[in-house]
Amino acid sequence: MTPAFTTVFVAALVLTSLFRVWLKWRHTRHVRAHRAAVPAGFADRIGLASHQKAADYTVDRSRTVIIDIGIETLVLLGWTLGGGLDALHALCAAHLDGLAYGVALILGVGFISAAIDLPLALYRQFVVEARYGFNRMTPALFLSDLAKQAALALVIGVPVLLAVLWLMGAMGEGWWLYVWLFWCGFNLLILFVWPTWIAPLFNKFSPLPDGDMKTRIEALLARCGFRSSGLFVMDGSKRSSHGNAYFTGFGDNKRIVFFDTLLDKLAPPEIEAVLAHELGHFRRRHVVQRMALAFATSLAFLWLLGQLIDAPWFYAGLGVGSQNTALALVLFFLVVPVFTFPFSPLGSQLSRRHEFEADAYAAEHASAADLVRALVKLYDDNAATLTPDPLHSLFHDSHPPAAQRIARLQVMEKPA
Ligand SMILES: [Zn+2]
Repeated sequence: MTPAFTTVFVAALVLTSLFRVWLKWRHTRHVRAHRAAVPAGFADRIGLASHQKAADYTVDRSRTVIIDIGIETLVLLGWTLGGGLDALHALCAAHLDGLAYGVALILGVGFISAAIDLPLALYRQFVVEARYGFNRMTPALFLSDLAKQAALALVIGVPVLLAVLWLMGAMGEGWWLYVWLFWCGFNLLILFVWPTWIAPLFNKFSPLPDGDMKTRIEALLARCGFRSSGLFVMDGSKRSSHGNAYFTGFGDNKRIVFFDTLLDKLAPPEIEAVLAHELGHFRRRHVVQRMALAFATSLAFLWLLGQLIDAPWFYAGLGVGSQNTALALVLFFLVVPVFTFPFSPLGSQLSRRHEFEADAYAAEHASAADLVRALVKLYDDNAATLTPDPLHSLFHDSHPPAAQRIARLQVMEKPA
């Protein structure tokens, strides 16, 4: 007889996957339907050719996502009901035991899943991104990135897994609380070491050169009462022509990083406005809120795992014949996203509210008109669609649609 949880799992997986495909299909249809003309508010800012490029790019990318959803669904079924985890368990258990077994099992799942994703990742970078002129990566750089990521996964992943599996075995009933404390500490540590130890493995960071740009930015920082331990330019252009700016670190270890591609595209007042938006995320405490939310969610999930770990129906329902902590961890992280996808609009909703607040902050401390100019240039340059499907947007977009952001900013423009 099929266990009841198997039915629940398969039904949830099929529904979630079909729903995700339907969202992408709707999005594609919506973008295509608006391909013929630049939307009203943008007609004098964006050319028809750019608008159509953005539509085609969106459609092409959505297609690869649909393929990706299909692969993900099959791979998940393969690991669970298809017997993949049972087989890997048998292989690891034949040669290893204790913590070494657990680490081997989890890393095995991670590396095999990454290998399955690889062809599509290559297609995305060297076919889709290249077709629109965004790819700047050479195959050699792609391979060296992959090797560095794998090495990092081992150097960081092995000790973390050893610690987590040990805590799960040694701390009794309340292990999930200890794992949670460890997890929070580990995340804070990574946040702290990322800018100085990890990011430089992948990119070169050079101090922002003196000049008009730097003077402007320092004035903005002073105006916003912001301290940081440096302004840097990152060679983002070696991978992609998409531009960006971001903050890393926390406390006095904060760094502001500009992609060289962003500095090339935007005029100094526009860059100032983009940075003011990023400062807004700090000043309005979004960064802290997001971190607190992530910690609270991980506590809830670890508690839930604590309830499932000794339940035979959890393993049997997912087609796994053995029962241990490493298998429970793997199953949990493979299966949880199937059940949490319906809640993703909650996360996007919060994130969009934060974006509006950061825009308002930028309008107050820099210039709304400059931010609008910067946004239009970035949308244009990144071939981001101006006409997303509203329902797709609700599930997937962390940023409000361009038209809404710009409409709000225009209201806030100070008279010249
Ligand atoms: Zn933002």
